[in-house]
Amino acid sequence: MPAGLAGRVVRWQRAHGRNTLPWQNTRDPYRVWLSEIMLQQTQVAAVLGYYERFLARFPDVQALAAAPLDDVLAHWSGLGYYSRARNLHACARAVVQQHGGAFPRTAAELQALPGIGPSTAAAISSFCFGERAAILDGNVKRVLTRVLGFGDDLALQANERRLWDHARELLPARDLQQAMPRYTQGLMDLGATVCLPRNPSCLICPVQPLCVGAREGAPEAYPVKTRKVKRSAQSLWLLHARAEDGAVWLQKRPTPGVWAGLYCLPLFGDRAALDEALPPAARGKVREAEPFVHVLTHKDLHLHPVQVDLPRGWGAAEGQWFGAAEWPRVGLPAPVRRLLELG
Ligand code: SF4
Repeated sequence: MPAGLAGRVVRWQRAHGRNTLPWQNTRDPYRVWLSEIMLQQTQVAAVLGYYERFLARFPDVQALAAAPLDDVLAHWSGLGYYSRARNLHACARAVVQQHGGAFPRTAAELQALPGIGPSTAAAISSFCFGERAAILDGNVKRVLTRVLGFGDDLALQANERRLWDHARELLPARDLQQAMPRYTQGLMDLGATVCLPRNPSCLICPVQPLCVGAREGAPEAYPVKTRKVKRSAQSLWLLHARAEDGAVWLQKRPTPGVWAGLYCLPLFGDRAALDEALPPAARGKVREAEPFVHVLTHKDLHLHPVQVDLPRGWGAAEGQWFGAAEWPRVGLPAPVRRLLELG
């Protein structure tokens, strides 16, 4: 193991790391947990506004636990990966019901809560309670595999477990209350700002003298992970039904499934099925809007919006009319919100 790595990361973080983000300089686990969940698969810049608005509406774990899920989804609307918001709500309820409203202090206990994986649990316990616990998200895997010259395939769980063992061995050994938050943040900052997937900035990197990948001259060879995510594609037709007073017809999406728990325009697998849902008199009066592609993690959705004006008296089996002042306040998938805003 490279000696002195933790000290280098801690010193560098103090001088050059990110220290002014809104969720830093606090040891409040609610705020740290919320930021960690929001930052999963989402860039810092995109999270900033959501974080402030979310905290303004749900200032503590009790407020979040007491809120209806629809309200939580509405405040998450546009951040994507909505299972995070559903788990967030379930986790808040578990903290209130099982832990009296106080987050547990160890990564092992935190991990037992909904939506908190091992790396997120360690981030919370090290930031808030100085626990000697290792994080290993995608950015940190990149940094550590390069520093260690760890070339084994992370698609195999046994190799991933070995990397976790290394991550634990590299943790600071002393002065944990101060060192653990800095070290954890330092690894995150290195991965996000210096040790980038392409063209890492080895010349300004604080751990360069210890780094096997840099010494070999090919840091981008790490990490090694062979399994590729299989992408699929799906075409969907969206019924954009509007009433004369500006109301739109929305259905709640089933769980599990695409956009589970959010409100959405009715979706159909083909155009004929959409036409069948319409009153016969309306079938010749539809307008096809420009189709577009919406990219999900494992799937490309080819979306075909179809607009039609219908009387308020119309009603499909599922769903309801939402007035012009109502629909902006419910949780909507980002592309549906954009469509409705276009009118
Ligand atoms: Fe990454 Fe280069 Fe730093 Fe090694 S020296 S950790 S490859 S930026």
